[in-house]
Amino acid sequence: MGIFKKYFMPNEYVKSIFQIDIAKLAESGVKGIITDLDNTLVGWDVEEPTEEVKAWFQKAKKHGITVTIVSNNNERRVAEFAKPLEVDCIFKARKPRGKAFNRATKQMALQPDEVVVIGDQMLTDVFGGKRRGLFTIMVVPVKQTDGFVTKFNRIIERRLLQHFRKKGYITWEEN
Ligand SMILES: [Mg+2]
Repeated sequence: MGIFKKYFMPNEYVKSIFQIDIAKLAESGVKGIITDLDNTLVGWDVEEPTEEVKAWFQKAKKHGITVTIVSNNNERRVAEFAKPLEVDCIFKARKPRGKAFNRATKQMALQPDEVVVIGDQMLTDVFGGKRRGLFTIMVVPVKQTDGFVTKFNRIIERRLLQHFRKKGYITWEEN
């Protein structure tokens, strides 16, 4: 298996978190979700969880899945967002470093094979999760604008996607 595939190719790719079949995840033994915040749950400039996002968290809870928000953003942003959702969060996570993924898994008292990682970035969310051997689901960014570092990462991300497509690895439906 190619090194790029091993570390950067998400296990699944969906248009948004709402396309993820929570019931199916639970059935397959998933007990925890580590999710990114910005451009994964809401646009990076949306301060509070939307009603739809709240319902998504409720659904996870109903299916016995614990969610932890793991974000590279600062305490104010992440803690305030997580508060109404009543879930744990890790801010300044420094993804793709693996530490925060380990910490979140441990805090949820779960094994790595019981956890899935959700995020919109291949170089932070997918790479970070896969380095730790976690199942990763990549989503299309909620908002198409990004900060400077992310813009740079997106260029690499596009190259990697091209590579996977050429190799025939991509099995998901593309628009
Ligand atoms: Mg993000």
